[in-house]
Amino acid sequence: MSECIFCRIAGGDIDAVVVGEGDEWVAFRDLDPQSPSHVLVIPRRHVGGLDALTDAALGGALLSACREVARREGLDGGYRVVTNVGRDGGQSVAHLHFHVMGGRPFAWPPG
Ligand code: 5GP
Ligand code: ZN
Repeated sequence: MSECIFCRIAGGDIDAVVVGEGDEWVAFRDLDPQSPSHVLVIPRRHVGGLDALTDAALGGALLSACREVARREGLDGGYRVVTNVGRDGGQSVAHLHFHVMGGRPFAWPPG
């Protein structure tokens, strides 16, 4: 069994609140939401992070999925899409994921 927690979520071995899925991606609610709507969009297959992403078509599918999730979540006032990369970026799970966050205003620059 994979030791990657997001591979296990994608495979259905660990429960998550799934809000959407496609052939190449799964979207589920973050366990520790930082905004009223906080969804993670991940590729079904393991990619360690943005630096490990070599398939441009997959990248496009994931970004389209983020937009679809925001629409379904009703984030008409706007939203933020974030992917943290590596130590300085604050990445804590080594499986590529895009945070789709909304339901409140966000500050810029981020902390
Ligand atoms: P990162 O810090 O890598 O950018 O984001 C990882 C995110 O995954 C965090 O926001 C964290 O709350 C979320 N997370 C970690 N483990 C789980 C889990 O088992 N289930 C869900 N739904 N989210 C998780
Ligand atoms: Zn993985």
